[in-house]
Amino acid sequence: MEKTIFQKIIDREIPASIVYEDDQCIAFEDIDPQAPIHCLVVPKILIVRLREAKDEHQALLGHLLLIAKKVAKMKGVDQSGYRVVINSGKDSGESVPHLHVHVLGGRSLQWPPG
Ligand code: 5GP
Repeated sequence: MEKTIFQKIIDREIPASIVYEDDQCIAFEDIDPQAPIHCLVVPKILIVRLREAKDEHQALLGHLLLIAKKVAKMKGVDQSGYRVVINSGKDSGESVPHLHVHVLGGRSLQWPPG
């Protein structure tokens, strides 16, 4: 199976502006930001999307949320507010088949999303 674009970032085969990394995940700036702050938190193992997540991934999924919180704080939007988004499947607009958590902030975000 060909590596996803995010796996290539994890493996340092393509560049990204990395803001955080540990043994379980990496966080970097989105290449096409939809808000002044837009980062992605990506697990280092391939879970294709939330639909494919299994019970054994429970701790990792929790870790991704805690790192999303950490990234929001690092980026200075923890007090002003931010949105955490996981797109899963066609109708969500998912475009990269490697689970990722969006962290968006730095402006007032609309609800409901388009
Ligand atoms: P999705 O639509 O799958 O939920 O989100 C995928 C996100 O990955 C998009 O916001 C898109 O801008 C971002 N993205 C796609 N390719 C790259 C890339 O090569 N580098 C970075 N940093 N972000 C990417």
